[in-house]
Amino acid sequence: KATIARIAAGEVIERPSSVVKELLENSLDAGAKRVDVVIREGGIGYIEVSDDGCGIVFSEVLLAFERHATSKLSSFEDIYAISSLGFRGEALPSIAAVADLEMLTAARTEESGTYLSLSGGEMVKHTRMARSPGTTIKLTRLFSRVPARLKFLKTPQHEASKVSEVVLSYALAYPEVKFTLSIDGRNTLNTPGNGKLRDAVLEIYGNDVASKMLDLETDSYRSSAINISGLVSPPEISRSNRNSLHFFVNRRLIQSRALQKAAEQAYSGLLMVGRYPLGVINIWLDGALVDVNIHPTKAEVKFSDESAVFTAVQRAVRSVLVEKPP
Ligand code: ADP
Ligand code: MG
Repeated sequence: KATIARIAAGEVIERPSSVVKELLENSLDAGAKRVDVVIREGGIGYIEVSDDGCGIVFSEVLLAFERHATSKLSSFEDIYAISSLGFRGEALPSIAAVADLEMLTAARTEESGTYLSLSGGEMVKHTRMARSPGTTIKLTRLFSRVPARLKFLKTPQHEASKVSEVVLSYALAYPEVKFTLSIDGRNTLNTPGNGKLRDAVLEIYGNDVASKMLDLETDSYRSSAINISGLVSPPEISRSNRNSLHFFVNRRLIQSRALQKAAEQAYSGLLMVGRYPLGVINIWLDGALVDVNIHPTKAEVKFSDESAVFTAVQRAVRSVLVEKPP
């Protein structure tokens, strides 16, 4: 049984950043207003995610570690339509199978909290314990029982930067949530959580960038089923890599070469070769217009009308670049 769990875990949990992504999504689904992430040695040594969300009641803590047990009623087909990020009930059991895990959680509705520890998916301790409402999950010995996974990992610095990228992305997608990130004892992120995207950008990219970012809006004259919001950099601010444009569909983090290209084309003639824009592009559309026939943990996305989304993004970006007030 343990072996099967470990094999299945490989699909969802590739590396420390996949763990952090799943835990962050759970915190956000729990309605957290604050999420604190701590990692050491690129997450291989230690991962901690703590939130002030709804918590889990004592009687349901063990259930949360059972495969396909989810409190979020939804179906695979409509993940872009639903408001929760999780829907499969696979993350916690998968993570527990490949690490030593401790959870301390307290539901707002209960007097006392719950402490649970698991080693390689096997229960070690399960008891009542005090905590303010919310959930903390601590992981050690990630992949220590899965040598093939360990070998596939890059350096701790590289893994840490991937974790950082995930936390940063969610901080941009959820500016109303306060995110902190500590890497090897160093605080690297501390967003205000005041709901203002520009202020989250300020924390991440600095005041110089934040003050110059341009507000995206869907063309007002165009009645469209696709809405665009966010911030993009003016041509004088650019990066030497393509990783600084963050795309979200209905608040879900996605990766799309096509959309990256759409945005880049909007800048054509404005940026030097080898320079790329940075920013946050939120795409809002009817969930039915997104095909989810690909692996749900992979961030790639397929739109039923890709060219419409492509055009909407390109027009939104282009219009702020050319209509930039003096
Ligand atoms: P999913 O998110 O797909 O439902 P998970 O395995 O990620 O599945 O989590 C299982 C269940 O555990 C969730 O449905 C939720 O009820 C509970 N849970 C996990 N993390 C948290 C958290 N941080 N706060 C509150 N509940 C949580
Ligand atoms: Mg989840």
